[in-house]
Amino acid sequence: MNLLWIHGLSCSGNTQSFLCGENPSAGQLLSKFNVLYHPAVTWEGSEEEVVRLVLEDKVHLDVFILEGAVGPRMRKLLGKDFGTVVKELARRADYVIALGNCAVFGNIPAKREPRVTGLQYRFQDRGGILGKAFTSRKGLPVINLSGCPAHPSWLSFVLSEILEGRRLRLDEKGRPLELYAYLTHQGCPRNEYFEWKIESEELGTKEGCLFYNFGCRGPMTHSSCNRILWNGVSSKTRAGMPCVGCTEFDFPRENMLKTQHAMGIPAELPLGVSKRGYILLAGVAKTFAPERLKKRLLNEDK
Ligand code: SF4
Repeated sequence: MNLLWIHGLSCSGNTQSFLCGENPSAGQLLSKFNVLYHPAVTWEGSEEEVVRLVLEDKVHLDVFILEGAVGPRMRKLLGKDFGTVVKELARRADYVIALGNCAVFGNIPAKREPRVTGLQYRFQDRGGILGKAFTSRKGLPVINLSGCPAHPSWLSFVLSEILEGRRLRLDEKGRPLELYAYLTHQGCPRNEYFEWKIESEELGTKEGCLFYNFGCRGPMTHSSCNRILWNGVSSKTRAGMPCVGCTEFDFPRENMLKTQHAMGIPAELPLGVSKRGYILLAGVAKTFAPERLKKRLLNEDK
């Protein structure tokens, strides 16, 4: 299959992430494709040459990956606006993948520029540069792999499914269900602290939950970060850093490492939890929290 990967407004973080992939490695996975162009891994052929061949229908485009957002005043390709070329490429592709939160939702580059957008979304609004109704040649909307960056295994999963000819099941935001049906919270080893409402005292420690003070978005963020671990060993919350919700449309937020409170409880509650239920459970949990969870696991003197 022919694969084309180009950069929009991007820090290349998703390329960096993908190149760190394991089982399979980026090299192993890409070797199963004919990579027409990627700004970091192909040596022959310029981006313009490859784009021209695709737009002239001389080369079939099986998989088109965009990393980064699309906006005005970007580089021109073949004398055309970048956004126009992206639309023409997407129309010819069997599968279109938006890789990373900027390509999916616009996000950081879109924060101060209203004309910057993702492929099929601009923040929560469906549309983007390709429009609400866009589907690729195989009948799918844009396959959105949100995240800042997306986990390398998430892209590996999608590319493998495409290679195998299996139909991807997507959620309402175009994200593969196998990867985004879960919350970051599910699989986090701090869940016992969460249940008993025991807060972390500082970042980077093993004890406590980061939801109550440090703004952890794990209970409202769709990702498999605590099920498919980073580098096979860890995740933000495992390392003592709150989930900052980087797979959702509203990333990045202000004051990301601080929980906002209203009337003494977190202003945003875990998905599906009512304020009444939360207050009832919080009172009971705090009263009966086990003493062992209130101590340091290691280095009691610290
Ligand atoms: S640290 Fe975050 S993800 Fe982990 S249990 Fe607490 S709220 Fe959930």
